[in-house]
Amino acid sequence: MIDFTFEPDVESVRMKVREFMDVEVRPAWEAIDQSDRAQVVKAIVTLRKKAREDWNLWLPHMPPEWGGMGLGPTAMAAVSAEAAKVGIGPFVLNAQAPDEGNQHTLLHWATPEQKEKYLKPLCEGTARSCFAMTEPEVAGSDPTLIKTFAYKDGDEWVINGHKWFISGARGAKFALLVARTEENPDQPQAANSCFIVDLPSEGWNVVRDVETMSGGHNHCEILIEDLRVPNSNMLGGRGQGHLLGQYRLGPARLAHCMRWIGQAETALDMMVKRSLERYSHGSILAEKQGIQWMIADSAMELYQCKLMVLHAAFKVENKLDFISEVSMAKHFVANSLWRIIDRAIQVHGALGYSTDTPLAGMLQQARWSRFADGADEIHQMRIAQRTIAAYKDHGTTKRATGDLPL
Ligand SMILES: Cc1cc2nc3c(=O)[nH]c(=O)nc-3n(C[C@H](O)[C@H](O)[C@H](O)COP(=O)(O)OP(=O)(O)OC[C@H]3O[C@@H](n4cnc5c(N)ncnc54)[C@H](O)[C@@H]3O)c2cc1C
Repeated sequence: MIDFTFEPDVESVRMKVREFMDVEVRPAWEAIDQSDRAQVVKAIVTLRKKAREDWNLWLPHMPPEWGGMGLGPTAMAAVSAEAAKVGIGPFVLNAQAPDEGNQHTLLHWATPEQKEKYLKPLCEGTARSCFAMTEPEVAGSDPTLIKTFAYKDGDEWVINGHKWFISGARGAKFALLVARTEENPDQPQAANSCFIVDLPSEGWNVVRDVETMSGGHNHCEILIEDLRVPNSNMLGGRGQGHLLGQYRLGPARLAHCMRWIGQAETALDMMVKRSLERYSHGSILAEKQGIQWMIADSAMELYQCKLMVLHAAFKVENKLDFISEVSMAKHFVANSLWRIIDRAIQVHGALGYSTDTPLAGMLQQARWSRFADGADEIHQMRIAQRTIAAYKDHGTTKRATGDLPL
């Protein structure tokens, strides 16, 4: 029998997160001016204290020895989807990107000394971090093209290059920086290494907070000029930068999907609520077939999103091959999120286009989900390659469609 329910302890955490969001986080978030950075930071600090001390909700994805709740990927799917129903929810639990991905990366790759110095404050919530890989001059979709270059000088590495869209860079205590260290690697994927860079550092220059279609959100452009990093701050081995990036991105992509499900559900709830309240041409919108199609399409897509994410999380948790399932989930959830929010805006009419509801801001945020952490076309390329390979190897594509017992 396939059981789609959570264990009682996971279900109780899920309901506790929902209650915490409803009782504490949403009212505090709606009471402040969300465009005022000082007010946002103050709200996060206050709510984090409550989360940790009063509700015992802190670092859900990290093991208890690091102060976390030790939840696996499927339990995290439940918790993240609840937390993401409020914009700052994941921040309040200290489970926000890019720190969540960096915490996983440090846990897996860092030396005990590196963990003590960098992972510990991240887990305690006294430091933030960033992950610096993308460059304006070369396609971020292909990290083998990275130009930022590091050469060894005694016990130090000297790094020069240019990065952009580095989320959370302003105010971060350290960066995980990916740079080319190998001139002629055996394979292109082995050219890069990863360094932990203390911030601020001489040679790490924040040029600007790149203005986006939804304003500035601390996605920074960085000019790296003769930045010196001690050899002991290399994370993983020489040439392991790509491997480390891939290790980080698999679960991090799934974590995004979990948060996007929370956002999509919020949009669908709003779509239905509005359709029950708005009256036109003799009946409420909920009774119009055209509106029902939008509701039905959204419900079907959200259902698919949930199944795909839970199945991918199950594969990660059970150490099964999850690459294709995470790719499919990332592509499908990102596109569903966009469509569901767009339909919710349609049903709200002018109100949906205004900033009187959160929908307009949600749509702007949703747009990046289709190319960040792997553009749609890259995921499609990889999914197609694996589907073709499955057919060639086994005479059937079955393995490439989740390898389910169907
Ligand atoms: C909000 C936001 C936050 C981000 N945060 C970070 C961060 O913290 N750290 C970081 O390092 N980066 C970050 N990024 C960058 C992000 O990871 C890149 O945008 C992403 O990897 C794509 O790289 P690119 O923008 O250079 O696009 P490109 O690689 O130039 O691709 C542009 C488009 O070309 C197409 N394309 C590319 N390659 C192929 C192909 N092989 N086949 C078919 N089509 C293709 C796709 O449609 C793609 O969307 C962030 C981006 C955003 C928008």
